[in-house]
Amino acid sequence: METILVLTHVDETGSALTKASLEAVTAGVELAQQISASLTIGILGLHAEAAASAVAATGARLLAVSGDAFAQPRYATDAAGCEALCRAAQASIVLAPGSSRFTRVAAGVAHRVGGFIDTHITALSGNDSVDATRWFYRQRIEAVVSRNARPWFLLLDAGTHAAYAGEAGAAQVEAVAVTLPATRTAVEGLRTPLLDAQTIRPDAKLLFVTGAGWTKKQPDGQIHVAEASSLILDFLRLTGASLGSSKSLADQKAEGEQSVLPFLTHMNQIGQTGSTPRHAKGLSTCCHGEEPHVVGWRFIGERRAISLDPNCGWTRGKADVVYIADAFQIIAKLNALLEARN
Ligand SMILES: Cc1cc2nc3c(=O)[nH]c(=O)nc-3n(C[C@H](O)[C@H](O)[C@H](O)COP(=O)(O)OP(=O)(O)OC[C@H]3O[C@@H](n4cnc5c(N)ncnc54)[C@H](O)[C@@H]3O)c2cc1C
Repeated sequence: METILVLTHVDETGSALTKASLEAVTAGVELAQQISASLTIGILGLHAEAAASAVAATGARLLAVSGDAFAQPRYATDAAGCEALCRAAQASIVLAPGSSRFTRVAAGVAHRVGGFIDTHITALSGNDSVDATRWFYRQRIEAVVSRNARPWFLLLDAGTHAAYAGEAGAAQVEAVAVTLPATRTAVEGLRTPLLDAQTIRPDAKLLFVTGAGWTKKQPDGQIHVAEASSLILDFLRLTGASLGSSKSLADQKAEGEQSVLPFLTHMNQIGQTGSTPRHAKGLSTCCHGEEPHVVGWRFIGERRAISLDPNCGWTRGKADVVYIADAFQIIAKLNALLEARN
């Protein structure tokens, strides 16, 4: 019989699980039911025991590694903590969120306990064996992977499972002791960009994609980059949407062709050579919606687009709704309505 360990970690509060961790818990609960496996949840963080109440209703065995050493992500301590949780759980399958904190240490931990690891897992299923699904070649080929090797570590992509939302309750937590390694890295704090400079928001419900049309000559024969810039930033501020960009728009800045939107980088680029985010809804503006870009929208649920071109890619079955209209006018009107509502 398989035994499943879900490795989780706390968020910046130190005492609550991250959303991606709760998604991994859902994956663990579902897989344990499917293959009749026992389930353990391991929690790592400053106040890991306090975070356990959120998953008490799973009925899983709960293990915690807590203390100041785990207040901040750091390879040496996180790897030691995860290794201790794995050894205590003696699991054959280890599920973990593909967060930056765990992506950094998971392969090392798998190696320490003689295991194997696969990453970017999007789905799990099982009967006699455990099957893990992931995409290759820029989300074009979907593969189902199975391994005999154990323990088998599986890092789950964010947004592929619902976050566990069982009733919080009193949890019986077993504290796991960790022999701390000598540390050479002292974490002094975090430096983050200003909130309005942070335009990539993976947890946002809406992906707002801007295309090169925002910086092209408009019907009056002029370009209106300053207006485009404030319309886009206002929309992001009012909706909390995540900002994506077409390659054409992101490239303009890199090549210095003309003054373009200063808050956009290649990190915002969506598509075959960009990212493939998972938001419930997507709104594309001033963008043609060609095939490479559509690859980037594979996991977007509801798709809408605003384009002046009635023959653009979005109108050919790539979007649910296409508004053949001027995005400058529509977004200005939308922003005014949102402002009034707020
Ligand atoms: C190997 C390869 C990989 C690629 N990878 C990617 C990728 O990962 N991501 C990506 O995005 N592209 C990628 N591309 C480029 C892609 O093929 C397109 O060239 C690009 O996506 C087009 O960007 P765009 O739609 O913003 O610009 P354009 O094609 O210039 O379209 C601009 C659109 O804006 C509309 N418009 C203009 N003004 C307005 C207005 N006021 N209101 C409404 N609409 C307006 C126009 O009608 C037009 O349809 C790749 C290409 C190659 C060859």
